[in-house]
Amino acid sequence: KAKQRGRNTREYFNQQLNEDSLRRSQLEQDLFKALERDEFYLLYQPIWSIDGDRIESVEALIRWQHPERGTVSPHEFIAIAEESVLIHAIGKWVIHEACQFARELSDSCKHAPKVSINISSSQFLRGDVEEQLTQEITALKLKGSDLIIEITESILLLEEQKIYQQLESMVSMGVDIAVDDFGTGYSSLSYLKKYPVQRLKIDKSFIDDLESNQDTQSLVSGMISLASSLSLKTVVEGVETQSQLDLLKQFGSPMIQGYLLARPMTGDTLLTLLQKQTTTPAEK
Ligand code: C2E
Ligand code: MG
Ligand code: MG
Ligand code: MG
Repeated sequence: KAKQRGRNTREYFNQQLNEDSLRRSQLEQDLFKALERDEFYLLYQPIWSIDGDRIESVEALIRWQHPERGTVSPHEFIAIAEESVLIHAIGKWVIHEACQFARELSDSCKHAPKVSINISSSQFLRGDVEEQLTQEITALKLKGSDLIIEITESILLLEEQKIYQQLESMVSMGVDIAVDDFGTGYSSLSYLKKYPVQRLKIDKSFIDDLESNQDTQSLVSGMISLASSLSLKTVVEGVETQSQLDLLKQFGSPMIQGYLLARPMTGDTLLTLLQKQTTTPAEK
């Protein structure tokens, strides 16, 4: 009987494996058509000052509206795109869209929030991110300081001259560089000395057990102090509850992002929200 069960389990796993790889290769094929079929769009999630009275920046988050499968998470399709040249076309589209939205924000608000753009390591390694950004900034008459570039720790560990030069040149235009998912990648912090970085985004995984775990509290409070003593701006990601927010206030976190204050939303909804904020400060 045990033998029978063993075989069933194995069959089950094999079947699961086949279904997964089938889904993946189908998604990959569909991904090649998604750009020309205009199936991508961006949502924007506000990044707030800790008091929740100001939207300092907004993170552009890509969505794929698949014709049959509905919305596919970027966790799934960005990984697939990164295995081919697709990531470059998608990445370029994201930069263009996000910069256009930055233009729209500047035109419609007095103190427009910055737009924060996720860039994949492979885009950086190819070496044309800085050029794309410069083109958009020039064409749309943006300021570098309207934009933030989010990169992962892993890219900074490659110690490539090409990466250093791209970052340097973006920073000289006024663009901020943010290290995304900070704390999850590697233990070496020496890259903070070598690379021009202005921001850290503390990963959501540290926030999930913040209320229950003393060690996590020490880690998060330590990361916030570290950032502040290095004159880096910090954002804590994935804040979902009031008690997490209260703790982060205690720790001196300057900025937060999370469902507690707002989920990712369309550009139009965000513009409306910003309009309300600037016209009715007395109601707060
Ligand atoms: P990320 O850059 O770390 O973005 C934060 C993710 O956390 C987003 O997921 C956001 O919706 C989610 N999030 C924010 N607040 C909360 C919260 O309070 N609770 C929970 N449970 N989640 C929260 P999303 O939009 O699904 O994106 C996932 C990842 O996909 C991003 O992680 C980023 O690595 C990647 N990604 C998204 N858009 C792009 C893009 O345009 N280009 C590239 N290269 N990667 C992207
Ligand atoms: Mg990000
Ligand atoms: Mg992040
Ligand atoms: Mg994250």
